[in-house]
Amino acid sequence: MKTKDILLKLRTENKLSQEELAAKVFVTRQAVSRWETGETIPNIDTLKLLSKLFNVSINTLLGSPRKLVCACCGMSIDDSTMSHEPDGNFNEEYCKWCYADGDYTLDIWKRNVGVGGKEKFKESKEILIREINVLLTIEGLPRIDNLNVLSGEFVNLEYTLPNGEKVKFLDDKQTYLGSQLESQSGNRCLGIAANMDFILMCSYVEPNS
Ligand SMILES: [Zn+2]
Repeated sequence: MKTKDILLKLRTENKLSQEELAAKVFVTRQAVSRWETGETIPNIDTLKLLSKLFNVSINTLLGSPRKLVCACCGMSIDDSTMSHEPDGNFNEEYCKWCYADGDYTLDIWKRNVGVGGKEKFKESKEILIREINVLLTIEGLPRIDNLNVLSGEFVNLEYTLPNGEKVKFLDDKQTYLGSQLESQSGNRCLGIAANMDFILMCSYVEPNS
């Protein structure tokens, strides 16, 4: 879809007249009309206002010219999975799991992004993989080749302690480097979740097996 069609669609879906939209983003009705005929496109400041008003990213307003990928975890992002800045603006660099409340949620990324970005992150990840392969001697643990960025929301499982108390070790709002593996001894699964300070290793069986 082209910018002119997207703007027309958003305006009509939001039941605004050209006049009303113009007033909301501080331009003239004629300017709105020119966007919708494709004569001009809004300037960057106006795009920011439109993005906030309609809750769609600037990339979407421009007809999605860029294929957006989270700089941290590598997953492709759209408006529903994109992160926001604390002021409500979209942050097109990161997914909402890797960047929230104005900060990175994966501490290994956070520590590295300023000093060496992606390369340094890769290096830290490789060190962690080596540590897991060399230091952890757990029966049935296969060698690990890679760790994925996992959202705490999905991997913060509840464990039952021997005394019956239920505990969670992770934070839903953080992300971790981890992996899920099949144990080489028995039909158990092994889960790994790590950040800068710890490696959490758990073993479990599929509920219905
Ligand atoms: Zn991400």
